[in-house]
Amino acid sequence: MDRKTLFVNVILPLPVPGTFSYRVPMDLNDSVHVGQRVVVQFGRTKIMSGLISEVTEKVPDFEQVKYILGILDEKPVVNSMQLKLWQWICDYYLCYEGEVMQAALPSAMKLSSESKIKLSDEFELDTMALSDYEYLIVEALQVQPKLTISEVSKIIGYKKVMPLIKTMIEKKIVVMEEELDPKFRAKYERYVALEEEYHSDEKMHELMDELTKRAYKQLEMVMSFFVLGGDAENDVIASALLAKSNANSTVLKALVNKGVFKVYEKRVSRLKSFDALTDVSSIQLTDKQQVAFDEIHQGFADGKPVLLHGVTSSGKTEIYIKLIQEALDKGRQVLYLLPEIALTEQIINRLKKYFGDKVGVYHSRYSDMERVEIWEQVLEFECTQSSKYQVIIGSRSAILLPFSNLGLIIVDEEHDSSFKQIDPAPRYNARDLSMILGRFHGADVILGSATPSFESYYNARQHRYHLVSLTQRFGGVEMPEIIVDDMRVERKRKLMQANFGSVLVDAMKQTLADKNQVILFQNRRGFSLRLECGVCHWVPQCINCDVSMTYHKAQNIMKCHYCGYTMAVPSECPSCHSTDLKMHGFGTERVEEDLTAVIPEARCARLDLDTTRSKNSYQNILDNFKNRETDVLVGTQMVTKGLDFDCVKTVGILDADNMLSFPDFRAHERSFQLMEQVSGRAGRKGEKGKVIIQTYQPTHPVIQNVVSHDYVRFYEEQMPIRRQYCYPPYYRLIMIKLRYSDYNRLNTAAESFAKRLRPVFKNNLLGPEYPVVSRVKNQYIKQILIKFDRNDNSMKIKELIKKEIESFKRNNEYKTVNISIDVDPI
Ligand code: ADP
Ligand code: ZN
Ligand code: ZN
Repeated sequence: MDRKTLFVNVILPLPVPGTFSYRVPMDLNDSVHVGQRVVVQFGRTKIMSGLISEVTEKVPDFEQVKYILGILDEKPVVNSMQLKLWQWICDYYLCYEGEVMQAALPSAMKLSSESKIKLSDEFELDTMALSDYEYLIVEALQVQPKLTISEVSKIIGYKKVMPLIKTMIEKKIVVMEEELDPKFRAKYERYVALEEEYHSDEKMHELMDELTKRAYKQLEMVMSFFVLGGDAENDVIASALLAKSNANSTVLKALVNKGVFKVYEKRVSRLKSFDALTDVSSIQLTDKQQVAFDEIHQGFADGKPVLLHGVTSSGKTEIYIKLIQEALDKGRQVLYLLPEIALTEQIINRLKKYFGDKVGVYHSRYSDMERVEIWEQVLEFECTQSSKYQVIIGSRSAILLPFSNLGLIIVDEEHDSSFKQIDPAPRYNARDLSMILGRFHGADVILGSATPSFESYYNARQHRYHLVSLTQRFGGVEMPEIIVDDMRVERKRKLMQANFGSVLVDAMKQTLADKNQVILFQNRRGFSLRLECGVCHWVPQCINCDVSMTYHKAQNIMKCHYCGYTMAVPSECPSCHSTDLKMHGFGTERVEEDLTAVIPEARCARLDLDTTRSKNSYQNILDNFKNRETDVLVGTQMVTKGLDFDCVKTVGILDADNMLSFPDFRAHERSFQLMEQVSGRAGRKGEKGKVIIQTYQPTHPVIQNVVSHDYVRFYEEQMPIRRQYCYPPYYRLIMIKLRYSDYNRLNTAAESFAKRLRPVFKNNLLGPEYPVVSRVKNQYIKQILIKFDRNDNSMKIKELIKKEIESFKRNNEYKTVNISIDVDPI
């Protein structure tokens, strides 16, 4: 063996440019590979794990190169395709590889000196043969339940700590402490069991006799219990029992009170297992779907991404399933991206029905161990009959998995903003990255939506994407009827009950009387109070931008969120001179409360951030609604996402104006998307549904386009405004935010930074300005927005910005000012 001296470049989990060079001990020469994790010392005391991005003989140009302390993996955990993507992300989104690595690796793979270990539940001292070091750690953990890696290293001397911990994890002696979001941890199902007393036939007959006379509904439920296979040993799922006996939970409660049944919760597998898989060839596409399907292939053959613009319920998912089968037949991997919230069991089970265990789910809030398992399976993917997880369903971070042979990427609901990571860096957009990743793998890419983002539709119009349209719902179901209810008329005639107009109240009553269900949508976003004339409903608008002015309470001033233009709070309406200027806005909680007052018999549930914080709550609320234990679902945009309920016949959009006047150049686009999407929940099966939009602006072009379900006209009306005000998709945006605790220092810092860039960008640099929320967690924020033509050389522009930021950071005066960059902010 020749005695080469090798060096490795290591990506460390730090927000700094570049990689760090270390020397490889000679005896490890044959064991170092790109993509492995190594343990290194950083600075004087810190030990960290990092990732090898390069193995080289080139001697680094500084002295005293440290040795790597150990190698964590036998085989690489990251492949070259990923490293290429990370590099691309850094260049495009102006961030650092360490940040991308942090976002990509599941936390169990990111051991750091602050990571903690604890004894595993499965560990039993006497059944385990322990090495001396292992024994020392176990002993320490019996005194102090959690140890950081640095504490462990103090106990045993740090050189071997990481490999040791790794084997201890593999031997199930210790586990890494995970931070879990408990609501995604496990699924619990309610079960109904027969109480001991009624196990005897005699007692049961007595009960039945009694129920026959006075409580027929309860009798029916007891019978259904037996029909469903329940007895002394076997329990029955509560929702199935309710459905079978066609009763509600009060009946069940009565039987529980009588001591007949008891109800308990049991943990069940998140995913149903499917004994018999359904063959994809059993899906018969309709003629229209078949045409679309062929056109999609045409686009792929031309080497273009496809934009599938299909109305809600047109069968986009069925088409995806067919495409997935084709990719699997070619032995390739599939990535199916979905918005964060829409990652429900509905869609997962639908895919599992066809692809069984080939489907894996990767979600940022699944437990870390589940994510590591998926990561490893994807990494080791080799196509065989039984290979698991060939199809990954995931939210945005799934784009960072170690795919080696992607054949197809699907981005469903591509318009959704959750594909964009906002904080922390890397602030990437998984939809846009899918184009890049697709190119690296030679994979087909399909974006689907009923309401495409303007960016994607523009790309399709420019022939960068291949556009395919599906304009009819499956099964001849008609698009819902949209009724616009003029709130001015309702108010004038004093027909309003709380925030409900008479049209909506009547429709809800009728729907509930028909034993159908209602969804009420109110998209209240906390900080944006709007000022409005109580007489003519004038709303102050910015003179420079196509957005409404926002009231800033602390400063008592009207301000534009985008360019910083300010004006005094008007004391009278400039258009009708009324002094009746009012603050507006009400939220979902208020709607729920009002509903109880207006229709007391309606069983109502609320789906928003506040009600879904606790364990299982999101899925429970949806399950209860699906099982028809609730009649009305009130919610924020959470209720708009891909949910498929059979009995929803009425959808109410309570305050369309609130969305339309949101201070953002995308407000109209978003409003259209939200209204169209939530409308899509009405009447998916059987008879046509009804949507009631409550508004003070019944002739508003956005609303008129929702009424006619005319996306294309809407797009064509809005795009000239985007061009006029230099917004995407014609222009690209880069948002730079500075944060600091001291108001004055932040001001000087922001101004000095802007001054360096202003000569280059001139009027296309806006700010520095305070955003609507100008202080968060005691940090003041100032933002600078840069616009440039999409045909400009963006790499050159970004290089320049990057250079300025690096030199800004080196300036001692501003060192502590936090600066963040958001490329393509949304
Ligand atoms: P989208 O994804 O466009 O909202 P889906 O694929 O969910 O539409 O289709 C809506 C409903 O119609 C689903 O219940 C689906 O099973 C059914 N459906 C659509 N196309 C077909 C088909 N070709 N054969 C059978 N059922 C279909
Ligand atoms: Zn007025
Ligand atoms: Zn403005």
